[in-house]
Amino acid sequence: MNFEQAWNTFRTMHDKLHAISHALGVVQYDAATVAPRGSAEGRGKTMGIISEMSYSIQTAPEVNEAVAYLLENKDQLTPAQLREVSEFNKSNEFVSSIPMQEYVDYTVLINEAEDVWHRAKQENDFASFLPYLQQIFDTNRRFALYYKPENKPYDTMLDMYEKGLTMEQADQFFSDLRSHIVPLLNKCMQAPQVRDDFLGRHADIATQRTFSDYLMEAITIDRRYCGIGETEHPFTTNFNKKDVRITTHYHEDALVSSMYSVIHEGGHALYELHSGDEYEGTFLSGGVSMGIHESQSRFFENIIGRSRQFTTLIFPKCQELFPDVLGDVTAEEFYRAVNKVEPSLIRTEADELTYAIHVMIRYEIEKAVIAGEMQVADIPQEWNRKYKEYLGVDVPDDTHGCLQDSHWSGGSIGYFPSYALGSAYGAQMLAKMKESIPVEDCVTEGNLTPITDWLEEHVWRHGCMYDPGELLERAVGAPFDPSYFVRYLEDKFGEIYGV
Ligand code: ZN
Repeated sequence: MNFEQAWNTFRTMHDKLHAISHALGVVQYDAATVAPRGSAEGRGKTMGIISEMSYSIQTAPEVNEAVAYLLENKDQLTPAQLREVSEFNKSNEFVSSIPMQEYVDYTVLINEAEDVWHRAKQENDFASFLPYLQQIFDTNRRFALYYKPENKPYDTMLDMYEKGLTMEQADQFFSDLRSHIVPLLNKCMQAPQVRDDFLGRHADIATQRTFSDYLMEAITIDRRYCGIGETEHPFTTNFNKKDVRITTHYHEDALVSSMYSVIHEGGHALYELHSGDEYEGTFLSGGVSMGIHESQSRFFENIIGRSRQFTTLIFPKCQELFPDVLGDVTAEEFYRAVNKVEPSLIRTEADELTYAIHVMIRYEIEKAVIAGEMQVADIPQEWNRKYKEYLGVDVPDDTHGCLQDSHWSGGSIGYFPSYALGSAYGAQMLAKMKESIPVEDCVTEGNLTPITDWLEEHVWRHGCMYDPGELLERAVGAPFDPSYFVRYLEDKFGEIYGV
């Protein structure tokens, strides 16, 4: 084998894997959006076969040989090529550590589990989901041990979503946040409450669809390359940088629910749409980690989308589209309403302040189950106990409790901490951005370009070239520091509630 042969083998393998993941992605997107309810069985077979093909291509002997050759001849690789081969090698070590049949069975299990979870959530029937959830936790633990037998399995899982993250760091991060958030939350709850009754008024769904198009334009999404669909649980998926899909869920009595889903998923989409051209068609294209991804989605959802400047900017359009909801409301009342702090049941609807607590509860449960300190069957009661202890709310049923999120049914264990980390990354990016850009003035004028240019320059265009910690440090010129997030929350909610 020579360099050229090895590199060609590597590239061909990438292109095949990319095509397979494109096909699988379309099947999954179809399943989540328009496929009929009863279609899971046939899709499961297709997905099983597709994932078998993917496994075979990735773990083929000639690919291993080519990767070994390239890693032995590092000096012939550019920094980007070296990064690409090394990153692939790591993910390959994970996949290769799993026996093929178990890998395929897991894909089929996840397809079934998502279907069962949908029904279980609708019918408040945790018992029907329990055997699947048990298998998902067991399989994830087993896979983590195949991959890194010497590590604690949950550390391995955290590292797969946010490279470098450990339980020790996450424990410290959450206990820091909690020690600042809980006192601030208590002060806000004792202050005079903001009015938000009008947010529950009837908002026509066809008009909400028009509103989504307006919002996507407002945050600079190029619609030639980004579509929007409707699903139970909003998400973003990308096939390449010119084909990104976001989804939302419309509620007639909760206008801002879809509004902030669209802006959140739109933030994910912007990151994918602006991945560097030089990485397109390589393993380095697209977002580097879930934490950095959430930093972008939550930057747009909260830091921009829930700012006084942005809500004021779009308020005339909101009033024009929804006169029955906002006709007798001022822009300032709208701003305060979308920032109302209130301990609640549903993570995706939570305010910025209590959000991290919702995430912390999921983190603690995952950690305990994977460590064998909590039974999967006990999740509902532990969930309810923690919601009472940390947020003071009574969970009425599992639909509004442990069945609310799609992550576990999709096999994503170790993902949740990325949401809270992302919020904190975003606050640190904002502080750095403000050194060179009048962020608030830009939003007031409806000119988001200096902000998106900054993010493109420092985050988006780099694709997967750097590890998340390094990317953040290059962007802000300092290591990760969660105190920016705490200060951001204290300033914002201190002003709104006068505390
Ligand atoms: Zn997200």
